[in-house]
Amino acid sequence: MSVELVAFDVAGTVLNDDGLVISAFKNAFEATQPELWPTHGAEWTQYAIDTMGQSKIHVFTELLGDVEKAHTANVAFEESYVSEIAEVGAVPIAGAEDLFKYLRSKGIAVALTTGFSRSTLDTLIHQLGWKDLIDLSVTPGEAGRGRPHPDMLNMAIEVLGITHPANVIVCGDTAADMQAAVAFGAGQVIGVLTGAHDEHTLHDAGATSVINSVADLKTLI
Ligand SMILES: [Mg+2]
Repeated sequence: MSVELVAFDVAGTVLNDDGLVISAFKNAFEATQPELWPTHGAEWTQYAIDTMGQSKIHVFTELLGDVEKAHTANVAFEESYVSEIAEVGAVPIAGAEDLFKYLRSKGIAVALTTGFSRSTLDTLIHQLGWKDLIDLSVTPGEAGRGRPHPDMLNMAIEVLGITHPANVIVCGDTAADMQAAVAFGAGQVIGVLTGAHDEHTLHDAGATSVINSVADLKTLI
């Protein structure tokens, strides 16, 4: 395959997560659903883990069954996540930045896709200092639907002028990332073990390879 683009998920794939996303989910539920949290908290938290990688606003809508409540919870989620990141700092997965530089030196574009909103993603990109290390970033709201739908990947190739999904490598840490890549028709669907889901889950969702982290990706290109 002649690789033209590698599209990376963010949290758990190129950005160290360490439970920050789940803890922000818990804070958001607790703050916005204080009556239901004691009885539904465990079930909601498990759902948030299982659906990791999907659009956050979509996950809240599925769980709370109400667009307005979901919006309020999503705002609380993003505030909590951004303040956690401000406290502990945004830490890249080891090797991610070197990989971006390597890919671009070979003429291969680098894109980021996410389940976060644009404002949260921009905060992360700014804190990481990655504005000039990537070619493009896409959020679910901009592309249409989040994962497991392939909309963000379709938008990325359209913007970057890439004609064949087969020339794209997609890399992520969740089942939803793998499913979106398969639906898109990616040439390689690569799971990493630095995030939410294990090797079995990633393979089941369609990964063509599972590697320890993005630091090992070079060997597959
Ligand atoms: Mg992720």
